[in-house]
Amino acid sequence: MSRRWWTSPDGRMVYVGWDRSLQQFFLNVVSLCADCGGMGEEFGTEVPCVACMGDGVAHDVPSINLGTDSLDLLSAELSKQGIPLPDKVRADLAQDQRTNAGELVHDYDQAQ
Ligand SMILES: [Zn+2]
Repeated sequence: MSRRWWTSPDGRMVYVGWDRSLQQFFLNVVSLCADCGGMGEEFGTEVPCVACMGDGVAHDVPSINLGTDSLDLLSAELSKQGIPLPDKVRADLAQDQRTNAGELVHDYDQAQ
């Protein structure tokens, strides 16, 4: 499975990738916990954040989970959320499908 992610303009985390075993793309959009900013810990400590129980995700905002073999559908779902699918990510996903990508992780926030 390939896993690629970036931060959307409105601060949500967008995870996409190619699931080799299911032969489809997945899309997962989550909002980071507002209390700890996604760190999962009280600021400056190792105490788990009370609001998110330490996993850094805002549980009061619905997350999106989608599995599809269509990049168009994936892109449409994202734009429904007001999040554009960057051309580079789309091209990488198309390549993952072509090569039937296995283990691969790519953080677009760190390495453009
Ligand atoms: Zn938190």
